[in-house]
Amino acid sequence: MRLALIGVGQAGGKVTDAFLEYADRTDSDIVVDALAVNTAKADLLGLQRVPVGNRLLIGTDRVKGHGVGADNELGAEIAQADSEEVLDAVADVPTHEVDAFMLVAGLGGGTGSGVAPYLAKELGRRYEEPVYGLGLLPAKDEGGIYMLNAARSFMTFVREVDNLVVYDNETMSGAGDSLASGFARANEQLARRFGVLLAAGETDGRVVPEQVVDASEIINTLACGGVSSFGYAASPVERKRGFFGGKKAADPSDATPRILSTVRQATLGRLSLPCEITSAERALVVVAGPPELLSRQGVEKARNWLEEATGTMEVRGGDFPVPDADEVAAAVVLSGVSDVPRVKELQGIAIETQQSMRELSDRSETKLADLLSAPEGDLEPLF
Ligand code: GDP
Repeated sequence: MRLALIGVGQAGGKVTDAFLEYADRTDSDIVVDALAVNTAKADLLGLQRVPVGNRLLIGTDRVKGHGVGADNELGAEIAQADSEEVLDAVADVPTHEVDAFMLVAGLGGGTGSGVAPYLAKELGRRYEEPVYGLGLLPAKDEGGIYMLNAARSFMTFVREVDNLVVYDNETMSGAGDSLASGFARANEQLARRFGVLLAAGETDGRVVPEQVVDASEIINTLACGGVSSFGYAASPVERKRGFFGGKKAADPSDATPRILSTVRQATLGRLSLPCEITSAERALVVVAGPPELLSRQGVEKARNWLEEATGTMEVRGGDFPVPDADEVAAAVVLSGVSDVPRVKELQGIAIETQQSMRELSDRSETKLADLLSAPEGDLEPLF
């Protein structure tokens, strides 16, 4: 599947960079074009891969390139005022080569959170191609304002996109990391996991899959709308070196159980958005690895297992042969999930935060009035 990627806000831009890095490294054709949109100039300057001409600074008349300071209402206002600028840039994308648009944004901040849902709405009105969102939820310790932003953005974004794929930063591994290195690793993983899925149908003809997962399989999986979660697992393959240093074929004797256990691990392990898997409407599985280990029976069994585990009949799947791979990897998409405790928790914290912000603001208005009221009321302001 070939995407036009639009990274909005700091996180959106960085994840877009990571997708471009993955596409470059693996020489895959999954990104037709990539844009980065921001209200903060410094964030755009910090990007490595998005072409300089594709970095769009919006809202300069309002915030002068300094960002919206986690105010997503301001982000949404700027989007409404300046979306033409972005849509003009999108008009230069060769959309005849694009299977779908994908807007990437951190939902806890201000720019991505406020701007991405509005852009989704406008892209949906103008283009036939589906518009997907990749939304990043804030980790639990980020604080109330981030939760409130995320909860409000989430409900708006889901409404405007054809499907919102969610990655919860709470699932980020590596507790000992600094924030920056943790994010860099999460972004790299995100790109790799998504990359396997997207690249599966874009083979160059050298090694042809038994069951191709092309763009239409992904589009049909996501067509039920709503929210999606994805999982990924990999099992290392031991390969001997040949006389001239090349990799020898892997031992195919345990190919079927290996595929099955990797797919189970991808589904039951750490999903990008933890959820009750039986609440999924549709699912998709891609098994990637050395061709000699991609047994047809293994992929069939894995698909059957996924049908049983999720209780849905609409499970699509296939294989993605990668001749020199040192692992067998499984990427699973659970589409249209509805039982997601994390979203309920986020909404609860958001409502509490909203209430206490209102109370605080009322209280501080009264306190300021108290402070300024002179005894006997005999002081007058200058004008
Ligand atoms: P914006 O620029 O105003 O849209 O805000 P940011 O994108 O900086 O931050 C929004 C949210 O994105 C935060 O709550 C973080 O959880 C998350 N975030 C920031 N940077 C990254 C990143 O590089 N990767 C990931 N996965 N999440 C990030």
